[in-house]
Amino acid sequence: MEKFELCYKLPDERADTWLAPQLLSVLQPEALEWEGATEGVTQSHTLSQPELQIRYEYEFMPKGLLSQHIVRNHRYIRQTELAWKSGAVFERAGAQALVTEAWGSRNIRIRARGANAKELLTLLSEDFDKMHERLEGLKVRKMIPCNCKVCLKSAEPHFYDHEKLQRRRMDGKRTVECDLSYEDVSVAGLLDGVFAKHIQNPKQLLEAGEIEEALRMMPQTNETTLLLGQIVSGEREFLQGLLNEKEYGAIKNRVLAAALKLM
Ligand SMILES: [Zn+2]
Repeated sequence: MEKFELCYKLPDERADTWLAPQLLSVLQPEALEWEGATEGVTQSHTLSQPELQIRYEYEFMPKGLLSQHIVRNHRYIRQTELAWKSGAVFERAGAQALVTEAWGSRNIRIRARGANAKELLTLLSEDFDKMHERLEGLKVRKMIPCNCKVCLKSAEPHFYDHEKLQRRRMDGKRTVECDLSYEDVSVAGLLDGVFAKHIQNPKQLLEAGEIEEALRMMPQTNETTLLLGQIVSGEREFLQGLLNEKEYGAIKNRVLAAALKLM
């Protein structure tokens, strides 16, 4: 089943515990601390922390996109009770992201907050982009919110088509007019406001405990390939119950120390 991205084993639970997204609760968890999570309303101006967001709008929404996304990115799910049928909270390096699927309005939203929010939003959205590429004939628009003075204060800001903004940038057009305020808004400011140009470097990732990701980013040498093999097989054996948490932890520490020496 794992091969088809249908379920994954929970690393910190009993060896026989699997989480299959299709078996997740339909109800949004009560512990969810995100304003406007169900209403689909942006309330970033009411939050104490600034929030980043993007959304995907589908002409026809393919089934199971969010489930697949949850499985593919399960390493960022720290609290399994915050994953349900139509949403999940992902955490990475001090950032939290809420991804929700709304069948009625045929969209998927990604909202992110905290330190490194931009990196997490970029990682998750790139994963959706990859999934979309595999679906032939899929019609989807990636939308990013306006950051003009009016929209920043608005619960319903204007959204721009990401592809069109990129085309503008390529064609040397620096601004775009907001439909709501008619203000000329910087194209680079819109794009760079939500997406990170460079996800953290390998050293930062290692320090954040993202060993596998860091190794994949480092130049491929015999040493990094060897370490990557050790961490991947360690995780697999741990998931299969062949290693206990302590043994797996020892492998991680050893690989981490060796990888830091290569920096
Ligand atoms: Zn605006």
